[in-house]
Amino acid sequence: MAAPAWAVRMMAEVLCDAGETQPVELFWRQSRPNAHRNARAHSSGRAMLTRRRIAITAGTERDEQQIVLLHEIAHIVSDDHTHGDGFYRVAWSIYLRYLPNIPRKRLLQVEGSYRKEALVVAADMGIRGAKSALARRGA
Ligand SMILES: [Zn+2]
Repeated sequence: MAAPAWAVRMMAEVLCDAGETQPVELFWRQSRPNAHRNARAHSSGRAMLTRRRIAITAGTERDEQQIVLLHEIAHIVSDDHTHGDGFYRVAWSIYLRYLPNIPRKRLLQVEGSYRKEALVVAADMGIRGAKSALARRGA
């Protein structure tokens, strides 16, 4: 399926602002419906840096789709496929700039449940709520 218009727009905006001139292909598919009718499906994604390609498997929640898309874009912009300090500094600056309507608590929850390093870097950057989220996760 084609990526939703908001995702195409968001990707174009972030790449343009970052001075990325080479196009990035965006592949989008919907996560399969879960056997449990009311269960939420999570989003996941993958960035292929040399092929300049992002693949998203979209879950139920729109805000999580947005975070996952920006996470993959941050891999492209940072030219870093790892989840270390350098990557997360770029990722957090992108989240805070392009997702002003998603509460920080939610950003910290989504990224923090994926990688502890996300919270370590967020705390180091002074992002509100990151230290307590890190403590709850068990630092
Ligand atoms: Zn990643």
